[in-house]
Formats: sequence, structure tokens, C-alpha cells
Amino acid sequence: MRLVLMGPPGAGKGTQCERLARGFGLAHIDTGGALRVVMARGGELAREVGSYVEAGQLVPDDTVVAVMTQRLSEPDAARGFLLDGFPRNRKQALALGAALTRASTRLDHAILLEVPDDVVLDRLSGRVVDPQTGQVYHERHSPPPPDVAPRVVRRRDDHLSAQQAQLAQYHAITEPMVQLYAERDLLLRVDGTGTPDAVFARLSAAIGTIG
Ligand code: AMP
Repeated sequence: MRLVLMGPPGAGKGTQCERLARGFGLAHIDTGGALRVVMARGGELAREVGSYVEAGQLVPDDTVVAVMTQRLSEPDAARGFLLDGFPRNRKQALALGAALTRASTRLDHAILLEVPDDVVLDRLSGRVVDPQTGQVYHERHSPPPPDVAPRVVRRRDDHLSAQQAQLAQYHAITEPMVQLYAERDLLLRVDGTGTPDAVFARLSAAIGTIG
């Protein structure tokens, strides 16, 4: 099975990708991770990618498409994959479709994890991270254990105005891509509210029976 998982920041994509990859035996291809692997290899491409990633900027579409197309040709992706963080706009989605067609394959589904903006803002507003382990907690919904609580910190980008701007940008960029997948009859909309277990159950039901 070949899947793309899309959703706003704070939708719980990372958690659900891990569960889906395990449950359905798919290679979880996380774009940030794939870019970091390229950076670690060194060379011209590594320097180019690194200059954007280290500045916190998006890598240009053509470059990220080249990296992801190469990643998708690696052996583990042949058993099926779950793309996380790519494509992130319509241009990347078109390029992915063309690359898969060249490889005589196609996506099975592009899943949109839908979480209303007010729920996303509530989730993001309480997000704290353990600087020692990188584990993310939520002050109200999944508080850190008592031994960890004294050292958790808020993430740098967790300010309401920054989060609202990020969400507005997400909608502007994502809508045309979602439209493209809807036109191609690949779009699955899944309710991303509720507990991680509830969301995973909905995703699994939408995709098909595990096994
Ligand atoms: P992440 O690990 O998802 O936070 O991504 C880390 C960095 O990778 C981002 O800050 C961007 O520089 C880059 N990146 C991730 N996904 C994409 C994408 N689809 N298009 C362009 N750049 C990306």
C-alpha cells in the first residue's frame, strides 16, 4: 500500500504515522528524516539541502522532489510506504504523481487528517517538551510524569500569533493539493479529533483491515 498522510501542524501525524507503518507493514518515510540522511552523506546536494534546513526554511520543490523520488526507489519502499511531510503543496504532489507513474506505480490513498483550527490551537498551546529526551507532552491532555515535569519547556514556536499564522499558511498551501487528490479520487478524509487510539481506529477502518 502506498499512502500519503496530510494534516495541520498539531494533528498528530507523527504518532499516527508510526502506528500505521507498524500496523500495515509500511516504510515510514518522513521527509525531514530523509533530508537529514542526505545532509549526513556530504557533497554538493548535502550542502544545498543543509543551507535551507539549518536556516529553518523550506527546501526548494525541485530539490525535495529529487530527494524523495530517490528515497522512494530504495528497497524498503517496495513493500509499501507512508509519506509524512511530503508532498506539502500542489507542485510537489504533481511531481510525486509523475515520478510514481514513471515507476509504473501509483498512490492508493492520500489521507487528510482533519482537525478543526480551534482544536489544533488548543493542542499546540499546551505543548511542552522534555529537553533531555525530546518527548512531547501536553500540559492538560497528556501531562509529563512527576519526575519529568520540573524540566519540561515550551517549544520556541509555541506562541498563539505564530500558530495562527502557521495554520493560515497551512490552509492556503494545502487546499489546492487536497483538491488535486479529490479530483483524482485518492482523497480519504479522516476525523483527527479525540484520543490517539480513536484516531488510529478511524484511520485503520478507512484504509482497510490490518493484515
Ligand atoms: P521536519 O523534520 O518535518 O520538521 O522538517 C525539517 C525541515 O525539512 C524543514 O524545516 C524544511 O526545511 C524541510 N522540509 C520538510 N519537508 C519538506 C517539504 N515537503 N518541502 C520542502 N522542505 C521540507
